Amino acid sequence: MRTGVDLAEPLAGFRRRLAETLVRSGLNFRDDLRVLDVLLNKARPPRARRAGEILSLWKAMLAEPTSRERPFQLYINIPYCRQKCLFCKFPVRLTAAPDGVESYLRELEAEALFFAPTFDTVRFDDFCVGGGTPSVCSARQLRDLFASVRSSFQIDPGARCSIEFHPASTTLEKLLVVRRAGFNRVSFGVQTMDAALLARIQRDDQDEASVRDAVRRAREAGFDNVSLELVLGLLGDGPRQFMESFRRVAALRPTTISVNQLNLTAAYMKSEGVSPDEYRRHCESVLPETVAELRTLAPAFGYDAGEASPRHGIWTLYALDALELRERKALAPEEATTNVLGLGQYAWSHVFARAWYERLPRAYHPDRPIYRTHPLSRGLEMARYVRDRLIKRSRIDFPHFRSLFGEDFRDRYALELRLLDEFGKVRMDSYGVDFLPLGLPERFFYGSVFFLDQISSAGFGRRTLSEGYLARLQRDLGCPSSEYPARAQ
Ligand code: SF4
Repeated sequence: MRTGVDLAEPLAGFRRRLAETLVRSGLNFRDDLRVLDVLLNKARPPRARRAGEILSLWKAMLAEPTSRERPFQLYINIPYCRQKCLFCKFPVRLTAAPDGVESYLRELEAEALFFAPTFDTVRFDDFCVGGGTPSVCSARQLRDLFASVRSSFQIDPGARCSIEFHPASTTLEKLLVVRRAGFNRVSFGVQTMDAALLARIQRDDQDEASVRDAVRRAREAGFDNVSLELVLGLLGDGPRQFMESFRRVAALRPTTISVNQLNLTAAYMKSEGVSPDEYRRHCESVLPETVAELRTLAPAFGYDAGEASPRHGIWTLYALDALELRERKALAPEEATTNVLGLGQYAWSHVFARAWYERLPRAYHPDRPIYRTHPLSRGLEMARYVRDRLIKRSRIDFPHFRSLFGEDFRDRYALELRLLDEFGKVRMDSYGVDFLPLGLPERFFYGSVFFLDQISSAGFGRRTLSEGYLARLQRDLGCPSSEYPARAQ
């Protein structure tokens, strides 16, 4: 239990400022979440570490008696593509043929072999391969890679095993290889079905026929969980055009359709000849109507639009005959508490309550400092957990919180709970606390009171945040960091 200062006044002040900020910004969930993410995850200076130091972090965490209470994910990154889509924010390298990936795959195997013995008692609950585009590899390369991974790590038989493919580099042989390697979900980036827009984003190696063939082959290979991804916010893609892409994608009956809001890149702006302000105006003029159409029409195409909103940035629409998958996902362990062992360049890893780290784009060698590591305190881990819970599920279970952190949620967050209770936003029983029915932006808004600890201890404004973020925080929150009281962690 924490000690010290009575925080009722500062919390009320914090709430008022946050309210003003969010109301002024039109409850812009996405931007404010980004600011908080920078604050929470990046405010502490990173340090480059060697593989041996990373291994020590994992060993210490795995030695904790409660370490197995939390799920584990194995993630492999293959940051190669045949060509670069102009809006893509991921760091990818270009390769015209599978030969270009060969040495990278050898390096991946060496990294996997280094970490594997430490995880010999861990069963991974989730296995995910992304990039880039894993389908740039040949069938033989995919077979060898997954044979090596399967012999190094234990994947739970009930695990979700998911891989990303590009329709243009998909073959039946590759799909059969990954299906036999135990993958049970395949996700195809489609972005749009409009040929002219595909050319404008430098993705003209794909067309409607290649998307249709990819989905047909996936079914032939035995995948019954197929996801297709669309991008929202392309210039030239108004509500009518976007819904036409959606209709054509829905006609292929994927299990889910993911809709991702476009990331504005310098390459895309240059190619389209627009400034960030012009792009923002485009979004303001077309996105609300597009999302309204999507919400209205998706059920007619057999999909549930759920919490679709122009401010989410990303959401997943489930086929109406696959809604039980969404229920299962809702019951699955939270992403925020998942330990992630990432392998490969640019892969992110998460060692619960100890560190986040990213593999830098340098050749793998156990004696080189190639992991950019951000320390992760228990307090920050709690804030991330609470944020994830509130945003995705609206409920926090007290026994679950205790099993993860060894503390009682009501003690840890007594003041915040009192505040939310006074606002009439929560209902509490002996087992947990529920937000009363609220939309996502409001859940984010009221859930932000739980970040006060982290905001006050992050020291933003003094050294670590970029000038742009600092200016925004000071402008929007309207106060310097010294107004936030320090609190025992
Ligand atoms: S295929 Fe995917 S990962 Fe590759 S550049 Fe395009 S969007 Fe990015």
